[in-house]
Amino acid sequence: KSCLSRLREVEPLVKAFISYDEEQALQQADAADHSLAAGQAGALTGIPLSLKDLLCTRGVRTTCGSAMLAHFIPPYDATVVEKVVQAGAVIVGKTTMDEFAMGSTSETCAFGTPGNPWNTDYVAGGSSGGSAASVAAGEVLASLGSDTGGSIRQPASLCGIVGMKPTYGRVSRFGLVAFASSLDQIGPITRDVADCALMMQVVSGYDNRDSTSVNRPVEDYSSYLVEGMRGVRVGLPREYFAEGLDPEVEKTVAGGVEVLRSVGAEIVEVALPHSEYAVAAYYLIAPAEASSNLARYDGVAYGYRDKQADTLLDLYKNTRSKGFGDEVKRRILIGTYALSSGYYDAYYKKASQVRTLILQDFNTAWESCDLLLSPVTPTPAWPKGTKSDDPLALYLSDMFTLSTNLAGLPGMSVPGGFHSSGLPIGIQLQGPHFQEGLLLRAAFNLE
Ligand code: GLN
Repeated sequence: KSCLSRLREVEPLVKAFISYDEEQALQQADAADHSLAAGQAGALTGIPLSLKDLLCTRGVRTTCGSAMLAHFIPPYDATVVEKVVQAGAVIVGKTTMDEFAMGSTSETCAFGTPGNPWNTDYVAGGSSGGSAASVAAGEVLASLGSDTGGSIRQPASLCGIVGMKPTYGRVSRFGLVAFASSLDQIGPITRDVADCALMMQVVSGYDNRDSTSVNRPVEDYSSYLVEGMRGVRVGLPREYFAEGLDPEVEKTVAGGVEVLRSVGAEIVEVALPHSEYAVAAYYLIAPAEASSNLARYDGVAYGYRDKQADTLLDLYKNTRSKGFGDEVKRRILIGTYALSSGYYDAYYKKASQVRTLILQDFNTAWESCDLLLSPVTPTPAWPKGTKSDDPLALYLSDMFTLSTNLAGLPGMSVPGGFHSSGLPIGIQLQGPHFQEGLLLRAAFNLE
């Protein structure tokens, strides 16, 4: 009830939700009361959550931020949705996001743009901007987002909360509307690190409905929340502290380094020499996969369908012309071009080779450190509208988060401090595959 009254108060400004259902939330909360009374509480019993609107919810509209899916009602739940419901969570609603998760500000959402709760004239980040805003504004206690190139970590950072992108394969993607399948991962957005560990515990695990799910036991993530970092080597990737980094962001990250040093961590400098190619490689690979994944929206099986067309080809053309927004079309064009015969070797194949080099950089780094600490984004949040016409500027703002996904690593964003503008600044942690526990421990010590 407290979350719902907060939601009613701030939602007109924050605009974190595409849809929410107070009545259903209260019913679920009642059911939670009963299971508590019966001594049958789960890990999340009674906890109000929001879900990014690309997680399929049975009987509940799932738009992916797109006019193409404005009326899509999935007949099944995503695995992560099943898991949080099973654990007792109360689902408050579905959050605003960039269309098909393509973006860094949530401004390409067909159903409104969320505001940053610290200053609603500023962006909340993206693409899981609504999820981050709903948590930072206190409308819910936690959320699930997705991260293909930073979409959990970046909005968490810009909104001053915690976000984790798990190792590729740790969390099932079944029921996640696909953007770039080799990069997409679902993960938690929470108010603090302990909540993040709890949410990770609930959503992780093998699922035979996702062929890339990894069959490996789920650890007790909360057990990693111990004070002290003795014996842990924290690497600072020198390429992440270069030109273009806001000096206040740099200072905040340096403050985090000192905190970890003071609790026993050994700080080492490392090199990730191919970092400068991450933006170029990602913005070929992600659109290439997207162009293939989005081929299914043709007006035939489901989603928006143009009713004026006389021929099948016109049906495809009109449906896709009207159903998709500009950024999605831009990605489909880039991706189709990069995959077409004659250009495949020059672009897609080259980008895939660079991807391998980026992974090898990390593997070399793990010889001298156990995890990496860096900025999440070069700057704090910016005013709405100021970069929306400049795709290249937006793509470049992702430069510190993309490599994590290209290499399939776990990554995390933890609040580090505040900019003189009053907006939050986050600190990024990255680690070797399946070292979520170590990231949580470092984050707990930074908190
Ligand atoms: N900003 C990146 C993009 O636009 C990442 C998005 C994401 O992680 N979903 O592709």
